[in-house]
Amino acid sequence: MTRQLHSWGRFPYAPQTGHGCSWAGEVTGVLDSVVAENSLTLPYGNGRSYGDSCLATSDQVVNMRSLDRFIQVDWQQGRVLAEAGVTLSEILAIAIPRGWFLSVTPGTQFATLGGAIANDVHGKNHHLRGTFGNHVLRFGLQRHGCPLLNCSGTENAELFAATIGGLGLTGVITWAEIQLMPIHSSQIESTVVRFANLAEFFSLSAELDQQHEYSVAWIDCLAKGSQSGRGVFIVGDHAPYGSLEVNERSKLSVPLVPPMSLINNFTLKGFNSAYWRAHPANRTRQRSSYEPFFYPLDRLLHWNRIYGRRGFQQYQCVIPDAAAEVAMAELLTAIANAGQGSFLAVLKRCGDAVSPGLLSFPLPGTSLALDFPQSASLAPLFVRLDAIVRAAGGRLYPAKDAHMTGSDFRQAYPAWEALEALRDPILMSRFWKRVTA
Ligand SMILES: Cc1cc2nc3c(=O)[nH]c(=O)nc-3n(C[C@H](O)[C@H](O)[C@H](O)COP(=O)(O)OP(=O)(O)OC[C@H]3O[C@@H](n4cnc5c(N)ncnc54)[C@H](O)[C@@H]3O)c2cc1C
Repeated sequence: MTRQLHSWGRFPYAPQTGHGCSWAGEVTGVLDSVVAENSLTLPYGNGRSYGDSCLATSDQVVNMRSLDRFIQVDWQQGRVLAEAGVTLSEILAIAIPRGWFLSVTPGTQFATLGGAIANDVHGKNHHLRGTFGNHVLRFGLQRHGCPLLNCSGTENAELFAATIGGLGLTGVITWAEIQLMPIHSSQIESTVVRFANLAEFFSLSAELDQQHEYSVAWIDCLAKGSQSGRGVFIVGDHAPYGSLEVNERSKLSVPLVPPMSLINNFTLKGFNSAYWRAHPANRTRQRSSYEPFFYPLDRLLHWNRIYGRRGFQQYQCVIPDAAAEVAMAELLTAIANAGQGSFLAVLKRCGDAVSPGLLSFPLPGTSLALDFPQSASLAPLFVRLDAIVRAAGGRLYPAKDAHMTGSDFRQAYPAWEALEALRDPILMSRFWKRVTA
């Protein structure tokens, strides 16, 4: 069965033919047949990566989404062993009623288990719990022409480390076991306050991050001058009591891709400004269910289509602590001066937990992420932003990237050669070819 697949940003536009597996035992056969016709391929989860890291150079991917069965669950220990195509939302659907939650979750619940491991995703609690990879106990890895390998911190440990954040290049993850964390309620108690500038953000983060499980900020990236760096700071925790309810799935959807982006500077400026004003100037406590807190964008299905046929790019970088405040100010000034930018940018302090993954993105510092409608004028802006990130000793996130230069990648991820040495030779993404060629 084949199906056209895309990356989330739809840029570069390179529709992929997906070769599906219905059963774990079919993975080797599908790999054989795709490779016989095309020589190269790549595993594909649910296409929630923005750039070209989930796109094969051959445009022929092994679609893992149908491998969506739970194999074994232990509700005493909070451990789930499932096929790699199970999504995080499917895990939450069975875990929440039993009082368990994902130890780490990205801002979408539609990523698969395999995709979350391959990008070693992080979330709003990175400062306390590190990345997704810190909570992976073991997984099965299928390399071409080899028997299925069990990988963990003690068995095939080198491949275990290379596969966490390994961008799908070391083999196909067929199943994985992860550790969940206990919760008493599916509701989140949060404290929200707006801040006027970056200095206030850093001081709020220093004061509140360690006291709360989750911490994140939204920045008005189009604000200039004295308003530059203003935003909304949010910290939260799982409520100590309350119900354990799974939220209803959203049915709202953008039905088709319009010819032009529906995002323009006029709508963006108005939205960002109104959002900032809508939030309280004094610290205010709120209680909400988990979905609007973790996954606000998932409520509108296919929201990526509003960027039209040209698609969009996300720019996500992390800057080490020592340089973060100055570099973030420079980045925001460059973005605002270029008059380009997105709905609220996400600012987040990352902690110092060490991931088992070789090529994990976060480092102790501050991460900034924002979306840009695709246009010719993005290239010169990204050159300026990249120069600031490089000078500050930071790096870009491969899961979001469609433009990073090979030299920036190799400089920022010196372990890339170790991953290349362990890459399954039949697996090649457009991203990997671009940054290692
Ligand atoms: C709204 C939104 C919010 C997001 N927020 C965050 C965030 O807060 N933090 C964060 O870190 N990321 C975030 N992301 C990015 C997203 O979580 C990652 O890109 C994730 O890896 C996507 O998973 P996927 O299953 O869709 O995989 P895909 O995008 O399809 O693939 C991602 C990578 O995984 C590999 N892969 C997929 N399945 C397998 C498998 N079975 N075996 C081996 N390799 C495999 C692919 O080859 C590819 O390299 C966000 C994305 C969106 C759309």
